[in-house]
Amino acid sequence: MTHGVEQMHELAIAKSIIELAKNEALEHRLEQITEIGVRVGALSGINCDALRFSLDALVVDTSLEGMKLIIDELPAKGICLKCNHEHVMGDFIEECPVCKGLAWKILQGEELELVHVSGVDKEENKQH
Ligand SMILES: [Zn+2]
Repeated sequence: MTHGVEQMHELAIAKSIIELAKNEALEHRLEQITEIGVRVGALSGINCDALRFSLDALVVDTSLEGMKLIIDELPAKGICLKCNHEHVMGDFIEECPVCKGLAWKILQGEELELVHVSGVDKEENKQH
């Protein structure tokens, strides 16, 4: 299978998300991860479709196959440094609709984080 150049970025991110989820599962003694949730901001530069595709491809034939991925996409939100207008943007920095300024304090949209990992608990069933 070949991946386009654009997907390499998401593939690397998908790999680190899986690592994080596995660590989380270990910490919470989960035997099987059934669902993970990630939060992706519109300014993070992540293509959610490519991320989903990469994750799906990476978990095939692993213990994570069949895992559900929930992507919470957050729009970009900023506050204008000139006039304090709060504005929800698209996936790039826009000019302030009030004063046409371009200097924003970004309040939301740069997130890329694992927010939850759900799974099946390990049974206390030790063999001696
Ligand atoms: Zn403004």
